[in-house]
Amino acid sequence: MSQAEARLARSLSAIPHGIVVFDADGAIAFRNKVAARYLSARHSEALVDEAIRDLAEGVLADHAPAAPSRAVDLFGPPRRALVLTAVRLEQRSEDLGALVLIDDVTDRRRLESIRRDFVANISHELKTPVGALGLLAETIGTEDDPEVARRLAARMMQEAFRVARTIDDLLELSQIEADPDGHHEDVPIPGLIAEAVDRVAGAAAQQGISIQQEAVPVALSVAGDRRQLVSAIYNLLDNAVKYSNSGSSVSVSALTDGRSVEVRVADHGVGVPRRDLERVFERFYRVDRARSRETGGTGLGLAIVRNIAENHGGSVHVESTEGTGSTFTLRLPARMGGAPKATDG
Ligand code: ADP
Repeated sequence: MSQAEARLARSLSAIPHGIVVFDADGAIAFRNKVAARYLSARHSEALVDEAIRDLAEGVLADHAPAAPSRAVDLFGPPRRALVLTAVRLEQRSEDLGALVLIDDVTDRRRLESIRRDFVANISHELKTPVGALGLLAETIGTEDDPEVARRLAARMMQEAFRVARTIDDLLELSQIEADPDGHHEDVPIPGLIAEAVDRVAGAAAQQGISIQQEAVPVALSVAGDRRQLVSAIYNLLDNAVKYSNSGSSVSVSALTDGRSVEVRVADHGVGVPRRDLERVFERFYRVDRARSRETGGTGLGLAIVRNIAENHGGSVHVESTEGTGSTFTLRLPARMGGAPKATDG
């Protein structure tokens, strides 16, 4: 291999796409590392190899369109979607061979499909209350009884609040995603919990639910975005209240093992069925649509909590028994050197 060829081979190996070069006789002259990986994977070898040769033969024999391409789906595992494109290599009409590019579009397809689903979900979530608003306005327009008109207007207000809440949550979610680092500072846990409890206190009182705030070590703190962290704890508390019955109690506590801090929100409410435990953190996923709607839910609260937890290098988990209650645990890395070893909560 000449020096120039070696340089070219090195450059082609640095490209994140698979590249296979054929000489004018249709023999493989070069393949970069990425291409070798696809070709050596046992389950995909035959399929990808055959498609590559087919495309190359096509352009070499000149009975193919300018740059033919072909989609190849590998059923794995892992499942992958590839797009192969062939081009003829020529110099001053001299045939030098063909090049086949292997583009792995798996992640792109997955993101596209998530985005499509998300847009479809948003449209659906907004269409329902907006449709209701239209109908209510139409009915009020023909209603003579002022008492009925007042009731319909109250319903309209409820639906309008629902749209506003969904938009607020969507904005919060996109803000968190757009600025994953947020504004990082030292945030004491007791203050965070007190602020979140304060925010939910009105709704809790209205529903006859008491909130027990366990004692938290004063020195316990995390590094993070204060506004986001309050929002995460508030969302967990808000759910605990929403999915509990009147007269019930909700508790919030925090403990640490020195490395991480766990904020726990426990309720004695309706609980989450086992099959839904993982899915409740997905955007717009609800176990009980009617209850979520009744309580003014947007289906975005836990997605917001999960995003915030991940932005802070943490996680969120749920343990629950249907009909008995749930405990949501927000785990965050403890501020280095700041947290005491034991819990005195
Ligand atoms: P929502 O606005 O509907 O409450 P969330 O994203 O906050 O949306 O929660 C998703 C779903 O998870 C809820 O609709 C509810 O079915 C379930 N859920 C969340 N928190 C609790 C809880 N503390 N107890 C029982 N179910 C819960």
